[in-house]
Amino acid sequence: MKREVLVAGGGIGGLACALALGRAGVAVDLLEQANAWGEVGAGLQLGPNAVRVLDDWGLLGTLRECAAFPDDLHVRDAHSAATLGTLRLGERATARYGQPYATVHRADLHALLLRAVQAEASVRLHTGTRVASCEATAEWVRVTCENEDRFEGDALIGCDGLWSRVRTQLLGTQPVRVSGHLAYRGMVRSADLPPHLRQNRVTAWLGPRLHVVHYPVRGGAWFNVVAVVHGVLGQGHGGPPGSDPQSWSHEAQAADLRRALGPACAELMAMLDAVPGWKLWALNDRAPMQGAHEQAQGRIGLLGDAAHPLRPYLAQGAAMALEDAWTIGRLRQQSTGVVDWPGLLDRYARTRWQRNARVQTRSARNGSIFHATGAVRLGRNMAMASLGEHLLDNPWLYSGPPAPLGAA
Ligand SMILES: Cc1cc2nc3c(=O)[nH]c(=O)nc-3n(C[C@H](O)[C@H](O)[C@H](O)COP(=O)(O)OP(=O)(O)OC[C@H]3O[C@@H](n4cnc5c(N)ncnc54)[C@H](O)[C@@H]3O)c2cc1C
Repeated sequence: MKREVLVAGGGIGGLACALALGRAGVAVDLLEQANAWGEVGAGLQLGPNAVRVLDDWGLLGTLRECAAFPDDLHVRDAHSAATLGTLRLGERATARYGQPYATVHRADLHALLLRAVQAEASVRLHTGTRVASCEATAEWVRVTCENEDRFEGDALIGCDGLWSRVRTQLLGTQPVRVSGHLAYRGMVRSADLPPHLRQNRVTAWLGPRLHVVHYPVRGGAWFNVVAVVHGVLGQGHGGPPGSDPQSWSHEAQAADLRRALGPACAELMAMLDAVPGWKLWALNDRAPMQGAHEQAQGRIGLLGDAAHPLRPYLAQGAAMALEDAWTIGRLRQQSTGVVDWPGLLDRYARTRWQRNARVQTRSARNGSIFHATGAVRLGRNMAMASLGEHLLDNPWLYSGPPAPLGAA
């Protein structure tokens, strides 16, 4: 039976998209390849722009129950432990942007979105349903899955992540960009940390060719720790050579991480030593979007990492997926009568692509700044010392998402 919208992928972006459309009363089929719902055990920072979206969906109360709300972002030198800069978050973020800055476990955000979607009668969720191909005509879209199930709709939104099948159908085969950066990530209970490390702040340690970020989640009961170093999966890091670059969960050894980090200050090492186990992620992205055609064409749209995967150095990948979803939902809510999906998706794409491209560009640039060596590193430290919060704050970003183009 034909539905109005098909959503491919049930990660944070896909669930957010289904929720935004479900709230607009749209009949949605969401197709997720995994056999069971779940998210990997790692954290996410949610800037005020992302929290604004969740608040608009009435989910701020639920977020408050599972997130942490750090007082500040503290940037430090990984070798000397010196403070390089501080951005006040907490009450300042709320006063400045009308929404707090949150840190949350990915599984908690995924679960709260899933619960909200399950409450929408017009959304049908399908697990174990892997999209194999799609086709679109002037009147409809059709998705064929690997289990040979077929779904038809007025529009298809590809939310199937970095390695998106929908993207390949829409834009052709384009290899992902290998960054040469690896993310080691782990979780540690606050109770297992020395008291001086149990701080309600986002701490970012910068060193040559590396950085480490840690912050509280689950109301401060746990800390998420991510260390990014340069290297190649299977070559001195994690699994055997030729390890699956699509996996977010390679087993990793603390000794490999320590070797890659080299000398680090005692406080940083104490935090890393407290983490009981590490997983490894190869960080890949794509070049910044070049135009609206990369976000939607005709009856097919792309959302989140499927459209604009980015390096996690602005902590905005999930946030942009939430903003994309919110924009589609808003546009649909404002459509009356027979919905012109190609027109709606065109407005969606034109609203979103430049902001997404800017975030992609800034994220990659942050990586170079964070990992700077030599004179660039000295210049960065001097700039942070003199410009302080101005350098770390992002008003253009945190005041989003922008209103949809052409909305009433
Ligand atoms: C180390 C690291 C730290 C990060 N930190 C932050 C942060 O602090 N803040 C932030 O906002 N972002 C952060 N991000 C980015 C964020 O994780 C991603 O941008 C976000 O998860 C993208 O969500 P998505 O739903 O678009 O894609 P995904 O999370 O990749 O979800 C895609 C979904 O589609 C499914 N799927 C794939 N193919 C198919 C198919 N063919 N058929 C059906 N289903 C399919 C997958 O199983 C999955 O459920 C970070 C990323 C990394 C790597």
